[in-house]
Amino acid sequence: MFEHEKAQMIKTGTKMDRYGLIALSGGNVSQRMQTGEILITPSGMIYEDMVPEDILVMNLEGNVIEGTRKASSDTEGILYIFKNRKDINVVIHTHQPYATAIGLVQDKFEVNLTTLANACGGDVAVTPFSSAGSVDMGKDTVKYLGNSLAVILSNHGVMAVGKDLKQALCSAVYLEEAAKTFLAAKSVGEPKKMSREQVKQAVELFHYYGQGTPEIPKELVKRI
Ligand code: 13P
Ligand code: ZN
Repeated sequence: MFEHEKAQMIKTGTKMDRYGLIALSGGNVSQRMQTGEILITPSGMIYEDMVPEDILVMNLEGNVIEGTRKASSDTEGILYIFKNRKDINVVIHTHQPYATAIGLVQDKFEVNLTTLANACGGDVAVTPFSSAGSVDMGKDTVKYLGNSLAVILSNHGVMAVGKDLKQALCSAVYLEEAAKTFLAAKSVGEPKKMSREQVKQAVELFHYYGQGTPEIPKELVKRI
């Protein structure tokens, strides 16, 4: 059942490792199928050692439909997100160090890089402390996400979401890159800000990025 989708999730997990978003078995990947089932990675297993049969298939209530592994310890919080945000099909949880570091000293990561606006769609909120494995992780994600595609969990990590695996991974990876750049700048001075119009422009521009999208309208990228 869902062999292809399970394989794609394992690939995403190994990319999380490659891009420095997790170490060993940290974080998790979950995905909603068009038919409503939720696919979720098993607890405490290293992504590169995972095979499709290790991934669990469950319903929104957490009843296992397929799989014998113990599901991610964050399952309750993740299911809360899928239940309450019908537009979200993928949740990626990471322990990415730079974004998490910002969450240790700030209550919000204000967007000040075009790539962060592109990938996350706006400011990234920092949620209050919640325990790993709690439903609060999911409740806070829903409460603080707004129109953005990521939140930073205080003293823990990041929840990145999307309509598909690519969008959620993109959000987590570019958030980490932006956090690294921000902290490097902050160590020597006060980072420049972007205006709301510039952020809006960068968010809009991303609709024209990559393959299968129209050419960028010239008036969209005029200097503001
Ligand atoms: P699992 O391996 O159980 O998904 O836990 C990883 C994690 O990051 C807990 O927050
Ligand atoms: Zn975690």
